[in-house]
Amino acid sequence: MADIIDGKAFAASLRASIAAEVAALSFQPGLAVVLVGDDPASKVYVANKARQTVEVGMRSFEHRLPAETTQATLLALVQSLNADAAVHGILVQLPLPRHLDADAIIAAISPAKDVDGLTVTNAGLLANGLPGLVPCTPLGCILLLHDRLGGMTGLNAVVIGRSNLVGKPIAQLLLQQNCTVTIAHSKTRDLPTLCRGADILIAAVGRPEMIKGDWIKPGATVIDVGINRVPAAAPGKTKLVGDVAFAEAAGVAGIITPVPGGVGPMTIACLLRNTLTAAKRIESRATLV
Ligand code: NDP
Repeated sequence: MADIIDGKAFAASLRASIAAEVAALSFQPGLAVVLVGDDPASKVYVANKARQTVEVGMRSFEHRLPAETTQATLLALVQSLNADAAVHGILVQLPLPRHLDADAIIAAISPAKDVDGLTVTNAGLLANGLPGLVPCTPLGCILLLHDRLGGMTGLNAVVIGRSNLVGKPIAQLLLQQNCTVTIAHSKTRDLPTLCRGADILIAAVGRPEMIKGDWIKPGATVIDVGINRVPAAAPGKTKLVGDVAFAEAAGVAGIITPVPGGVGPMTIACLLRNTLTAAKRIESRATLV
């Protein structure tokens, strides 16, 4: 049976170390979260982010805008947050309502405050191995891997999924760790065989339990990023499952993350870590001027 990573406990210890660092600062980092519309899942995420931001000693600025907010209004808000010295991190909760151009809104965020790591500038810095702000979920995956494996030099890593938010940045981070990285996607041929060669297998697909136990190399480390809501056994109830068929996979893998309780809790903890990183960089630049 695989060793099951407790992402909740790891995220809690990460938040505790962030809180200790914040307490020692001479200023208070601030995170602004912008929510447009009333998507119920987004409301829950934003409330959790705000609560955890305050718990680590940072200031939380919540901006809730109506669903009919115009592009110009949202852009003006982002620009005012870029200019606000109390705000070190800006997160625009996605998805945005369909009439808004999310790419243009993200492009308007100052790269120094882009704590989601989604601007082209931060993606470029990551691709070049330069210090920037790394997307939160990929950062969470690497921290978990680092904790369990230490060095990853020479390991074969297969990342299933090539989104800008998850798959591509995870692949870049694994490359920085000297892994030999393969990125798979919906057009990849013979995915099971490819997966069987992976010492590290990352699933970031969004298809419930697609990766079966016999796709996994015995002893491999499996990180399941997928979050899929499916019908539960009880009528009318639902449950969360990952992209990996957990029960089968846990019998073959050496180390595995569960869903829920694996990668998921790391995302907000890494958002707070990015906010701390951004705040320290911004404030140290300010004292140099
Ligand atoms: P996207 O839908 O943007 O990307 C999915 C990727 O999976 C695409 O690259 C797609 O390929 C690939 N794919 C789809 N079907 C197959 C298939 N049959 N075989 C191989 N590859 C396939 O999703 P995200 O990257 O945003 O998210 C992925 C998962 O991670 C989702 O379940 C999401 O909910 C979860 N997630 C979890 C987070 C967390 O905090 N734990 C945070 C963010 C996301 P192609 O490019 O060819 O279409």
